[in-house]
Amino acid sequence: MAWICNLVRLATRVNLRRMNVEISSVMCPFCDECEESLDHLFTACSVAIRVWTCIGV
Ligand SMILES: [Zn+2]
Repeated sequence: MAWICNLVRLATRVNLRRMNVEISSVMCPFCDECEESLDHLFTACSVAIRVWTCIGV
């Protein structure tokens, strides 16, 4: 549960925008295909999927 709570506070670009932090873009810097949300970063990003595949997850 604590791990999940910390993930919600992870400084993704979408979370930073939600906290009114000025950022140049909310797009994912790895793939530039979608907004950098928690879900995108860990499950949907094409780069993340390649990394998970390489480490066998
Ligand atoms: Zn991405």
